[in-house]
Amino acid sequence: MYLHLETSGAVVLLAGDAERTARVAHKYKDAASIIQCPTPQALVPAAALRPVLAVICVAENDQDAFPSWRTALAKTLPGTLITVDTEDPIGTVGTVFLIGAGPGLAGYMTVAAHRALASSDVVLIDHLAPVTDIELWAPGAEIIDVGKVPGEHKVPQRQIDQMMVNYALAGKNVARVKGGDPYVFGRGTEELYACERAGVPVEVISGVTSSIAVPASAGVPMTLRKVSHMFTVVSGHAELTDAELDLLAGFVTSGGTISLLMGVRTLPHTVAGLLERGVEARTPVGTFENVYREGERVRYSTLERAAEDLADLRPPAITVIGRVVDAGYASGTDESARRDALLQLALSEGRDAKA
Ligand code: SAH
Repeated sequence: MYLHLETSGAVVLLAGDAERTARVAHKYKDAASIIQCPTPQALVPAAALRPVLAVICVAENDQDAFPSWRTALAKTLPGTLITVDTEDPIGTVGTVFLIGAGPGLAGYMTVAAHRALASSDVVLIDHLAPVTDIELWAPGAEIIDVGKVPGEHKVPQRQIDQMMVNYALAGKNVARVKGGDPYVFGRGTEELYACERAGVPVEVISGVTSSIAVPASAGVPMTLRKVSHMFTVVSGHAELTDAELDLLAGFVTSGGTISLLMGVRTLPHTVAGLLERGVEARTPVGTFENVYREGERVRYSTLERAAEDLADLRPPAITVIGRVVDAGYASGTDESARRDALLQLALSEGRDAKA
């Protein structure tokens, strides 16, 4: 039952030990005055101020304190409305942990993430954050799926920021759990700033980013000696601009690896843009779809064939473009010769300044 008590202008008495009454006092900030009574003896002088409401502030499982306060109140302040508040006195502001939960494999959650979850009172988790058994890692915590609200709409970012701040200001430790790493297309920085502005301490706990770990699950590296000595992570959420495509075309041509996230819808545009700018048509492309989940699918193609081969790609998926993709081809396929050639090169003797 949710009961709203209108206390504006009233005298409110808070009964209970000082730590508890201090903690709940903010709820009655509209009251004309608040009297804090740490002991039943203090009720006698307080009675002269005629409180209309007495709030017994005790722990939920404190079997003795509640009845003894109730008896004392009934005796000293007959007719005063009595209610109970069991909020625990945590005292200080809570900490927000911005946690990267990795790409979906249980073992890819870090020890630091587990520790933070264990000390959290509230968990704000994205709908698809890949954490199984969250209740196990955060026992006793309230778990809120901020990817979903009653109307099935996503909770807006600002509201998530506000929730984190409010819980922390109420003294709770908050675990904000995200897929992969919080700082790789995870809006981690916005959440960090929102907390900092509100004076809430934040601890960032890096996670294993899917941009590297998902291709790695199929044997595709980001760098390879004598093949690729640089890689970049790109968001394909919006179509890449001409300037970005110009840069990326030069980057791939120079041996760089692109890990493209959120790029399923815009993939035809990205691929066409790179081809138009002269990137080698046979540049290998790998797609890693739903990795570590149901519907996992790994496919290989080339830039010139990608539009056709990968037309039915579905999110979440990562597309890797670059010669390193050949390293992931399963041996025994028609393409295995390319893989072998690549690995021979990487293993070959000789100085390589870059890799
Ligand atoms: N912060 C996350 C990325 C968030 S953006 C990280 O560091 O991993 C979300 C994108 O990540 C998805 O659109 C998809 O491109 C990619 N992704 C995340 N997990 C994935 C998975 N298990 N399989 C395939 N793609 C995945």
